Amino acid sequence: MSTLTEKKSARPTKRSQGRPLPELIFGDLWEFDPAPETADPKLKPRYELFIGGKFVAPASGKYFDSTNPANETKIAEFALGGAADVDAAYAAAQKAQPAWAKLPGKERAKYLYRIARLLQDRAREFAVAETMDNGKPIKETRDFDVPMAAAHFFYHAGWADKLEYVAPGRRVAPLGIVGQVIPWNFPLLMMAWKLAPALAVGNCAVIKPATNTPLSALKLAEIIQDAGLPPGVVNILTGPGSTGGAIMAHPLAAKIAFTGSTDVGKVIMRSVAGTEKRMTMELGGKAANIVFDDAPLDQAVEGIVNGIFFNQGQVCCAGSRLLVHEPVADAVVAKLKNRLRVLRVGDPLDKNTDVGAIVSRDQLETVQGYLDAGVKEGATMWQPPCRLPKKGFYLPPTIFTGVTQSHRIAREEIFGPVLSIITFRTVDEAIEKANNTAYGLSAGVWTDKGSRILKMSTELKAGVVWANTFNKFDPTSPFGGYKESGFGREGGRQGLLDYCRLV
Ligand code: NAP
Ligand code: MG
Repeated sequence: MSTLTEKKSARPTKRSQGRPLPELIFGDLWEFDPAPETADPKLKPRYELFIGGKFVAPASGKYFDSTNPANETKIAEFALGGAADVDAAYAAAQKAQPAWAKLPGKERAKYLYRIARLLQDRAREFAVAETMDNGKPIKETRDFDVPMAAAHFFYHAGWADKLEYVAPGRRVAPLGIVGQVIPWNFPLLMMAWKLAPALAVGNCAVIKPATNTPLSALKLAEIIQDAGLPPGVVNILTGPGSTGGAIMAHPLAAKIAFTGSTDVGKVIMRSVAGTEKRMTMELGGKAANIVFDDAPLDQAVEGIVNGIFFNQGQVCCAGSRLLVHEPVADAVVAKLKNRLRVLRVGDPLDKNTDVGAIVSRDQLETVQGYLDAGVKEGATMWQPPCRLPKKGFYLPPTIFTGVTQSHRIAREEIFGPVLSIITFRTVDEAIEKANNTAYGLSAGVWTDKGSRILKMSTELKAGVVWANTFNKFDPTSPFGGYKESGFGREGGRQGLLDYCRLV
């Protein structure tokens, strides 16, 4: 347990008596003892490709570094996979797929259960490794990313011998080999979202994590090996975007599943247009988090904070646009500022940290570019006072007021800890503003009225609508977008269906 120590200078002392006290700022008043997580992440200096159940060197003979964005130090080096390695991975998957598909569902389930349990056994180690590679706070990797990844394997293990219920009246068969590419914001969890449903149905997979965050994928490969999964059922390749392109365009891929930016999603769609490949795309978002005047405001403020500052705002479904009802706008902004003053920004391995590091220097610069654009276009920026570590890629939680719908910070996905606040007067205006975006991944509604929740969830063009909560996930719940946020679903029966051939 950490102890709260009070900063002496902020309290009235004998020396300050008679003189005006400095303005009390919560963030300055309290200081926590550092409480770094100490579990060993069990890192290797070098990670190879995982093809055909073995760790193999890349054809290129080349490696790249992954760095810790919290302190800019090298974590380990990773194989630079290319087109020849992609071919080898598909060949291994092709060899493995018929036997894997023929295995009774309850036998496939045993492997998925084993992977889930091994993840739980090594949960602490995985949480530390993921935090070091990505920069997200340890309390998030420990309480969210790792347990949720295990939960996805458990959930889909449960489906493997009940596939007749995925589409009642139809026979369900696997598609074959699936090619999958994932982003850096939830590296381990996205591995689980992609692999667990694919494997449950009897598909084999070739998957690539993002260059910024390859570590947990290769640690998962260790677990897959320890679970005794037949060689070639899962193949994991590290490497640049072009390697992802080769995975997506490969002639042996019956289906491709991509999570990442809308721009790259469009490039991939163009590259496979005209082929028979099935496709699912989980792309960007610009979610509206809508607070009505009858909402429980303190709860709503917690939801706003969780909506945009969870994972430093690097979340596709982040509540990056706050739409607030005019009568309570000033009160909500005042409460929000008070709340942000006590968020702890800093070392992601510290158990008290709320906001960790941005994933890379590039991403930090992109987000800073949006701060400049917001100010230039006339919005008002506010950040709480906070001391940022000298090394690493950090940004204080940032809010903009005076935002109009035409501002870039209201239209474009920033993918950082930046909230754009817009006001509205009527329900119809809230709906119109919320839907006024190219994206449609998620939305949040805060109100006391059930009828209003129903109306909003019907009229908001978003794949997920949260009511009086935000960023809540569960393996049983389908997740996916409308419009430029993509198509297809992950999670639940609907997500599983996207990995099935119905015969
Ligand atoms: P990104 O640049 O699109 O990269 C995603 C993945 O695609 C990475 O593995 C990347 O490899 C790879 N890639 C890059 N160019 C490629 C190409 N031409 N062909 C095939 N693969 C290619 O996105 P990001 O910056 O990693 O992630 C942030 C974006 O992901 C945001 O826009 C966010 O909204 C979106 N996202 C969406 C969801 C969702 O469920 N809808 C979830 C999470 C994130 P490299 O890392 O080597 O470049
Ligand atoms: Mg990294």
